[in-house]
Amino acid sequence: MLPFNSLTNTLIMTTDVLQIELRRADRSRIQEVDFNNLPFGKHFSDHMFVADFIDGEWTNQMVVPFDNFSLSPSLTSLHYGQSIFEGMKAYKNEAGEVQMFRPMANFERINESARRMCMATLPEEVFMGGLETLLRVDADWVPTQPDSSLYIRPYMFALDASLGVAPAKTYRFCIFTCPVGTYYAKPPKLKVETEYIRSAPGGVGYAKCAGNYAASMYPTMLAQQAGYDQLIWTDAREHKYIEESGTMNIMFVIDGKLVTPATSDTILRGITRDSILKVARSWGMPVEERLVSVEEVINGIETGRLTEAFGAGTAVVVSPYALIGYNGHDYMLPENTTDDSFAIRIKNYLTDVRTGKIADEFGWMHTV
Ligand SMILES: *Cc1c(COP(=O)(O)O)cnc(C)c1O
Repeated sequence: MLPFNSLTNTLIMTTDVLQIELRRADRSRIQEVDFNNLPFGKHFSDHMFVADFIDGEWTNQMVVPFDNFSLSPSLTSLHYGQSIFEGMKAYKNEAGEVQMFRPMANFERINESARRMCMATLPEEVFMGGLETLLRVDADWVPTQPDSSLYIRPYMFALDASLGVAPAKTYRFCIFTCPVGTYYAKPPKLKVETEYIRSAPGGVGYAKCAGNYAASMYPTMLAQQAGYDQLIWTDAREHKYIEESGTMNIMFVIDGKLVTPATSDTILRGITRDSILKVARSWGMPVEERLVSVEEVINGIETGRLTEAFGAGTAVVVSPYALIGYNGHDYMLPENTTDDSFAIRIKNYLTDVRTGKIADEFGWMHTV
């Protein structure tokens, strides 16, 4: 076992090939945090993992106190946007073990994003070794309150200091974590976006890159000024087919079937989405991954055939919607707060797997 409990600067090994330097915070900030009231992404755990890609290899791997970086004003990621991230969660089960949910899926996806952005890719031992080391050092920060978890933010950005437009030669990979509670207080109101787009065929919609979020903010702000909380994005060509909602994948229950847009290069392959589809299939629920038109959804609401509409993503897990606004009309969704709704059942199932209350049938939990 590794000397994680050492209070002095220590060189630790997580694998034969990976050395991580550990420098502990002089003093933990954990007492300053009210774990019963955790706003999303506001409290940062004591440490972070950092690794740099220099001269063609990942180096300088360390776990150090969460602190500012000193960066060049000419940092290429700030100018040309080579910047990608992941979002994932860790939980503490009833035995007190810290477990991450499907971290290898995030590992694969960050490299998919890196390839699209022409960035360095990460070896498994850096991504997983960084995560495991950081979570062991900050294990006390993993909440145990109901509906709480440790949100993990791995990300990578270009580190070159140069104004030339070219793929950077150096990159920084960092991981920090935040204890979080529930994300949305009440079911959000969604507006179908028929003017702006989030992504287009041949573009970068499937990558988890920073620019996708920047591009979504202005149309989202307009929707919020009109009284909505989030957008439902439609296809770039015709605004006829539903793609995602906000920063989540979107799902519907229509005629008792779970219906969701099939993924493509315009839709991000959510790990929550994938997990929900796998569980639904194992429950014998019919699942359809296909084109879903706005018309079908609106008709479904009007005729009562559509009984649920919800977003799926790591931050919220499952977020049932209150209404969908389209062409100036608001279409109210049935209130799905009862325990027999699919959204609630799947949310409870995933929560129970993550907290170790029920068996991890799919082998999704990765013990740190
Ligand atoms: C991260 C993200 C999702 C959800 O993915 P998860 O792996 O389930 O968290 C969905 N859509 C977009 C655009 C995203 O960035």
